[in-house]
Amino acid sequence: MHDDFDETRRRLLLSGSLGLASTFYAGGGSAATPSGSTTVVDEGTVIGGKVTFPPIDAASETPGNPPPNPDPAGQRVGFAVVGLGRLALQNILPAFAQSKHARLAGLVSGDPAKMRIIAAQYGVPRDACYGYEEMARLGGNAAIQVVYVVLPNALHRHAVIQAAQAGKHVLCEKPMATSADEAREMIAACRGADRKLMIAYRCQYEVNNRELAKRARSGELGRIQFVDAINTQNQGDPTQWRQIKRLSGGGSLPDVGLYCLNTTRALLGEEPIEVLARIHSPDQDDRFREVESTVSFVLRFPSGILANCVSSYSVHTQRNFRVLGSDASAEITNAFAYEGQKLHITRRDGQAEANIQLSLAVRNQFSLEMDHMALCVRKNVEPRTPGEEGLQDQILMAAIYQSAQTGQPVALAPVLRQDAYRGSPLDNDFD
Ligand code: NAD
Repeated sequence: MHDDFDETRRRLLLSGSLGLASTFYAGGGSAATPSGSTTVVDEGTVIGGKVTFPPIDAASETPGNPPPNPDPAGQRVGFAVVGLGRLALQNILPAFAQSKHARLAGLVSGDPAKMRIIAAQYGVPRDACYGYEEMARLGGNAAIQVVYVVLPNALHRHAVIQAAQAGKHVLCEKPMATSADEAREMIAACRGADRKLMIAYRCQYEVNNRELAKRARSGELGRIQFVDAINTQNQGDPTQWRQIKRLSGGGSLPDVGLYCLNTTRALLGEEPIEVLARIHSPDQDDRFREVESTVSFVLRFPSGILANCVSSYSVHTQRNFRVLGSDASAEITNAFAYEGQKLHITRRDGQAEANIQLSLAVRNQFSLEMDHMALCVRKNVEPRTPGEEGLQDQILMAAIYQSAQTGQPVALAPVLRQDAYRGSPLDNDFD
């Protein structure tokens, strides 16, 4: 009904219908009615509840993002965020502003004063704010459909199980858990409650990583033979939970090395049949009394592809991902960062070597990830990165630690199905 009205008004304005145009000016409080032949119109066409604009650039120009056309606020899927730390406050809560299908509907924290401030900033009602020990009460809040767990790794299991028992779908930060057994418990709890469980592997939703995976899988790089993934950062505070094993489950591997592991698996669609790893931590360094710093690991895949992965907590930031094929190589710089990805492809072009940088329209990967979860809930389909995807990484990380400890390669049972642990494809997420 509204759509028809808007469309009718637009057409009338475009055709210069004086009666409606003057009503429009009066209603809008415009300072002056334009004189001469200029008519004010409101461009854009409403089709199927979405506003679209006709292209104004030549076909030679790269189109920008269309208007996002988010769902009406009241129709978006409500999320409660559990844990108001750095990731939640710096990245997740702001990303709701760019979400199309998700909205912030609740908070869970151990600090009422902090929660009051955040609730006021983001317009979360007071009665949708809960303490950690009150998670069972989430069940009584129908506005919350998804619980997003953003706590230290060792606390994911309990929070996920509580959320599922309260009848909520769950989006859980990576790493899923601190062991494969915990991950299995989390999957069983969500399955038992008939709730969806998604692990927040944001790089699988990030546009440059997706573009490279699509091109690599299409054969554009020729036969892929080698992947090189590096994700490092230099940690400071030795008392932070990441340096305490009972809270983190490990050092750089489960935190940043996981991106190398998961992004490689997601790009290839294969599962490793062997891992070989080495670990090194600086001596006499308080940060590494309990957890490791540098992990270097090689993954061997059934197709013969090798992946060389490095994570570290004691060197300057590097977050690059390279894929080497017989016909071309590709690299994403800042591949695992929150922003600033650049995708490069190098190949022959006639008698020249071409090095192309692809600049894709920027999209907030946290918004894309939350929107995917929201759509999975709405359409009742399995998320692209379900609990099983997280469990597989836990199994592989345990094998990596085992190899580093023994100095021997660890063989893994072959998994021959492509994308064996992934749910529904992402093709329609940009709609
Ligand atoms: P953080 O330390 O900034 O925040 C942790 C939150 O958990 C804080 O609100 C803290 O008060 C709360 N908490 C509850 N019990 C705690 C305890 N016993 N010890 C310490 N904190 C406790 O951590 P973060 O960087 O926000 O990380 C949270 C989760 O998000 C982790 O699982 C981490 O791996 C993940 N993470 C993911 C990304 C990503 O890009 N997807 C980036 C950073 C962190």
